[in-house]
Amino acid sequence: MHFVIIPSGAERVCSETSPWAIDGEPDFERRRASMKGLASTSQVMTALERGIEGGGISRGQALLLIEHAELSSLLRAAAAVRDRSKGRTVSYSKKVFIPLTHLCRDYCGYCTFRADPAADGQPFMTSQEVLAVAEAGRRAGCKEALFSLGDQPEAIFPEARAFLRKQGFERTLEYLAAMGQLVLDQTGLLPHSNPGLMPAVDLRRLKESNVSLGLMLEGASPRLWRAGGPHWKAPDKVPSLRLQTIEDAGRLSIAFTTGILVGIGETAEERVDSLLAIRDLHEKYGHIQEVIVQPFRAKPGTRMALAPEPSTEDLQRTLAVARLIFSREMNIQSPPNLLSGDYLLLLEAGINDWGGISPITKDFINPEAAWPQISLLAEKTAGAGFVLRERLAIYPEFSSRPGFVDARVQSCLQKLHGEGGYARN
Ligand code: SF4
Repeated sequence: MHFVIIPSGAERVCSETSPWAIDGEPDFERRRASMKGLASTSQVMTALERGIEGGGISRGQALLLIEHAELSSLLRAAAAVRDRSKGRTVSYSKKVFIPLTHLCRDYCGYCTFRADPAADGQPFMTSQEVLAVAEAGRRAGCKEALFSLGDQPEAIFPEARAFLRKQGFERTLEYLAAMGQLVLDQTGLLPHSNPGLMPAVDLRRLKESNVSLGLMLEGASPRLWRAGGPHWKAPDKVPSLRLQTIEDAGRLSIAFTTGILVGIGETAEERVDSLLAIRDLHEKYGHIQEVIVQPFRAKPGTRMALAPEPSTEDLQRTLAVARLIFSREMNIQSPPNLLSGDYLLLLEAGINDWGGISPITKDFINPEAAWPQISLLAEKTAGAGFVLRERLAIYPEFSSRPGFVDARVQSCLQKLHGEGGYARN
């Protein structure tokens, strides 16, 4: 029997497979266990050798490795490729989190960030509030202003339309561009926005104030979008639309952050195919600055409150295969706060970036998971044999690449730029 979502919240109907195994697909762990023994050791060894060469692996090899490789061999291969290209440096960005609006027209099954309009609340942060948070971030040494927000709330909420109209805008993305410009001009922080789907006209406008932009692909499988799935009632999570935004960003030479969400009901093949879809676009445009591999975390009060979370091994396997798929140049990131005390295990799987860490604001997307203190992160990273370095919201390899940084952003970028393209101390 397939799972059924009870809209009122955290209930589920018992099923023979995981409730998040859509259309009867067994979940990732069970599928891997059932496939054990079907691949020959020599095929797996060949795939590992190809991966260690660092030039990228094929779809077939990625599938073999994610499902059949012995974990320690897979991790060693990914770590070796990372060490050869990135050395023992792990980066992070000191950021302040600006949740411009929690209103969103989508209803993703795992999200606690989104909200419908409340009688006593305003739909968006005002420009004064935005500046106050950004300024507090600047004083705390942040260099990135991360704008995170719901997707196109004006499409369904009159409250959003009324607020925007009062400020002289029709659309959230126009207001976002104005707030990014304000923060850049008034504080010198480098904006990085993550507003959901962005048509080309908005990408172009946002590039005038943002040093980079982001949109998680999450998953390339349309299956996740079907009724009852994690992306049910989320029109902005149609994979082809998200791939279109990522492609448009490539055409416009925008340093772009994307990635996948692990454990929301996708199969191993779909996970690999999502990574390959990102690789295809990067091979075409060369604009993906980092790939995030983020584990799903079940949150009370959501439709997926009782859905199983991916295991640490599952996450490590996916990260390691991502490292081998993307070869040596790509920055691979996984956030430390989602693995609690075990986050050093992520380093074993070939990552070279911890993502954005805020010394003053919480992780609004995962409010239950506090970021580690930066000093503690540095200490633990060093204990594992790595050096923690602060980067900017644009990675060193993109910040001096012709055409990637708008002239209006350049002067602020130069002030924050330090040795090797990392953040100035
Ligand atoms: S995950 Fe993003 S798009 Fe989905 S409901 Fe939450 S804010 Fe909206």
